[in-house]
This record gives sequence, C-alpha cells and structure tokens, in this order.
Amino acid sequence: MRTIEHWISGTRTAGAATRTAPVWNPATGEQQAEVPLATAGDVDDAVRAAATAFEHWSQVSLSRRSKILFNFRELINRRAAELAEVISDEHGKVVSDAAGEVQRGLEVVEFACGIPQLLKGEYSDQVSTNVDAWSYRQPLGVCAGITPFNFPIMVPMWMYPVAIACGNTFVLKPSERDPSVSLMVAELWVEAGLPDGVFNVVHGDKEAVDALLDHPDVAAVSFVGSTPIAKYIHQRASEHGKRVQALGGAKNHAIVLPDADLDFASDHLVAAAFGSAGERCMAISATVAVGSAGDALNEVLYDKGTAVRVGPGRDPASEMGPVVTRQAQERILGYIDSGEQQGAKITVDGRGLVVDGYENGFFVGPTVIDQVTPEMDVYRDEIFGPVLSVVRSDTVEEAIDLINANPYGNGTAIFTNSGEAARRFHRNVTVGMIGINVPVPVPMAFYSFGGWKDSLFGDRHIHGPDGVSFYTRGKVVTSRWPHIEHTTGASYDMPTAE
Ligand code: NAD
Repeated sequence: MRTIEHWISGTRTAGAATRTAPVWNPATGEQQAEVPLATAGDVDDAVRAAATAFEHWSQVSLSRRSKILFNFRELINRRAAELAEVISDEHGKVVSDAAGEVQRGLEVVEFACGIPQLLKGEYSDQVSTNVDAWSYRQPLGVCAGITPFNFPIMVPMWMYPVAIACGNTFVLKPSERDPSVSLMVAELWVEAGLPDGVFNVVHGDKEAVDALLDHPDVAAVSFVGSTPIAKYIHQRASEHGKRVQALGGAKNHAIVLPDADLDFASDHLVAAAFGSAGERCMAISATVAVGSAGDALNEVLYDKGTAVRVGPGRDPASEMGPVVTRQAQERILGYIDSGEQQGAKITVDGRGLVVDGYENGFFVGPTVIDQVTPEMDVYRDEIFGPVLSVVRSDTVEEAIDLINANPYGNGTAIFTNSGEAARRFHRNVTVGMIGINVPVPVPMAFYSFGGWKDSLFGDRHIHGPDGVSFYTRGKVVTSRWPHIEHTTGASYDMPTAE
C-alpha cells in the first residue's frame, strides 16, 4: 500500500505514527493509499522545524520573498494539469473542476507576489516638533493551517502564500482524505527556492490538530472546515492565546424572483448545487422561489437536474463525480430519505444511481427536493452533497427573513432583473458573500473571503487584505533625534504634541 508521508524541514518522513487512515479512490470505491496520522511528537518536530526556519526567513528581504513567490507561481501554473488530476483521483471531483480550484488558489499566490506593496506602512512627518511617527507590520512566527477535504489545494492556498510572503513559517495539516497534493506543493516550494522548514506538512486527525492548537510555538491558527470543529478550534486555540480564524460550514440560499430569466437562473442554480457534487462551502443548497417563480422553476430544474452527466472524475464527459467517501454517500442518501419522510417532494431523485463500470463508486445523483419547509432536516442541516431544496416564499422580505434566521451566513445569491430588489437584498442579508445573478460569489484573491454567524469564528476573513492583517502585527514608532541645544529637561506630564 502506498504511503503518503509528512513533509518536515524539506524531507519526506513517515514520523512515529502507528495509526493510519485510508485514502480512497471515490470513483471505484477502492483504497489507493494510506496516510499516517501524526502523533504529538511528529507535530512537535514540524513546529520546531518551522520555528527554527522563522529565525532566518523573517529576516529575508521583501524582494527575495517576492521572487520566490513568483517562482512558485510559475511552477504551479506549469504543473496545474497534473495537480488537478491528483486532486480528482482522491477527492472525486471532475478534472476540469479541479483545474478551476488550482486556478483560484493560484490567484492568491499572485496576490501574495505583491507583498512589498501590501506590507507598506504609513509615515507622518513632524507629528510634534522634531518628532516623526511611522507604522509597519511584522510576521507572527509559526502559523498553522488546518484544512478540509473539499478544496485540497485552494483552501490551503488561501493561507500559506500570504503567511509565508509576510515572513512567517507554516505547518499545514491538510485533510486526511485527499492529502497527496500538499506533498506536491511542498516539493514545488523547494524548487521555487523556499528554504527548508518554512513550509511543512503533517497529516493527521484530532490528535495532530490538538497538538498544533496546544503547541506554545504556534502563534496563529487558520482553520477551514465544518462548524462544530471550527467552534472547537476557535475556543481551544484562543485559550492558548493564539490568533485564530476559523471558517465553518454553510447553508447557502439563492432567491429567485418572478422577474428573473429562469433559463439563466436555473443553469446557474444546477451548476452551483451539483458542481463538485455539492461539496463546496459556497454551493447553493436551498433555493427560495418567490411568488409565481416556484412552479416554472421546478420544471426547468427537473429538465436540467436530470441531464447532469455523472461519472468518474477522470472521464472528460463527466460533469459531476462521486462524493468523497462511502460514509458521505450514506449520510447524503439518509438526508434524501428524511426529506421524503418529513413530507417534501423528491422531484429529481439521485438515490440508486449506478455508474456503469463504477458500481462500487461513492456516487449520489443530482437531487431536487420541492416543498421543503424550514423545520425539515434537509433544510436545517448542511448536507454537503448534490441536493437542492426548493423553498417557497410570497415576498422578497420573507425570503430575506428566512436567510437571516439561518444560523449560517457564508454565501447567498439573488436572481432578478430588478436593481432595487437586488440592492435591498444585499444591504439586508446577514451573510458575508453575496452574488447578484452570480450563484457562487467567491471573492477574488484581492478581496477577503469569509462568512458571518456560524460560518466564521474570529474577526478576520481569509486572504486578501484581511489575510495580510491576520498574518502580521503592527508596530508604531515615534522617533526624535534631539539636538543638544533643543533639550528642555525632564517633564513629568503626559507627553503631548507641541
Ligand atoms: P471537517 O470539519 O470534518 O474537517 C476539517 C479539518 O478538521 C480536517 O483537517 C480534519 O482532519 C480536522 N478535524 C476533523 N475532526 C476534528 C476534530 N474532532 N478535532 C480536530 N480536528 C478535526 O470538514 P470536512 O468534512 O473536511 O470539510 C467539509 C466542511 O468544511 C463543510 O462543513 C464545509 O462547509 C466546510 N468548508 C467551509 C469553507 C468556508 O470557507 N467557510 C470552505 C470549505 C469547506
């Protein structure tokens, strides 16, 4: 069985772990590799390597850091197709979708290439007589990233390019479900000229995560994953005095108004619900049909939902691949059953889908559930699969109230031709990322990504300007070079400007 090792101080190592986790091929349902689950000792090795590397890396010039980031950008770009295939093989998503993920991650690397500009401070001349003041930002030290399975390259890239560009060193604990691509990334960093120990990868589960959260040499923790774990990470890392940002789960709604172009809206709704088998934190999982939009919308969703081509991620004809594990498949099928039992109407049924030649794969077909009400489990819980619920509402206000009553606040969208309704919507929803006729409004790398409410714990969003702020701390210097003839003697009053 192939073993996917850790990467500590520029070297592959299996560490001291006695426990391992299987890495599946979701299309075939077979195990293809195993990954060691790091012990606290393995984590300590990685953190120490990163702490030692910080002494040098934090002193490397901005121009040298930026050059290494440019080299890294070129290497990722050159190897993008290969990276996408590795992601598809372990995650299950189709290769073209994985290529999109590589591209969106690359955009954060490109943002971080501009680090000399991003780290510019402010300067005020003569704030008092012969006194100047300026501010600048310095790195924190060792930063840790704990990431989910659903974007094995993009989500870690929301973190480490910015952290490393700012002068920090990094320990990544990627998802144990699809760990290989992180090792490829580690090798590309070396090729780009990054010194050993600046970027490290440890694989593992709760034991490894807890060791990072408790380690005295870890200065900051970035987490992306489900809400219960995000809450836990935020609390435990905060207790240890660390800076922490923890992005959680989602239940993203799209409102469709009767004036929307239904053909356009439904194309985007099915893509947003079924792309990546619904395993995106920005997937649309509930659509709110307002007024007369409901019945017509259901008809087009039926036509488009049943037309999605489901197959292995490596087949260029597939539009949607399997879900990540057998456990995820069973959980999603259970939710569809519960929707039916609780009185909703399954209009497109993905249960029982069998893909020829891939009978043991973890497939669930696209599913549309109509007449969903807010108390049903399919509405309340994050299903994280290819399941789109249709909820009805009489007015835009009612639809907005529904979104605002939801504990999650990651993304949301509206389909309409009314600028007035769109404006009312974006101003009044308690959600962090909003699309107007854009169903998956993932911000570009030069903005920051983050939800509200149970979708984010911590006060800063990820990448973009918030990322630079998260991975640095500010200093303000007040300076005077006294001439002997200007000295006025001691004053015991609070200093004020003269
Ligand atoms: P998860 O919460 O199960 O795992 C995320 C990470 O936490 C993994 O590295 C995992 O090993 C670790 N982990 C799991 N259980 C743990 C525990 N008990 N203690 C400590 N660490 C633990 O999430 P997942 O299933 O990998 O990913 C899907 C989830 O991530 C969904 O809820 C999705 O909405 C969310 N997500 C959110 C965003 C966002 O930006 N808000 C982005 C992507 C994914």
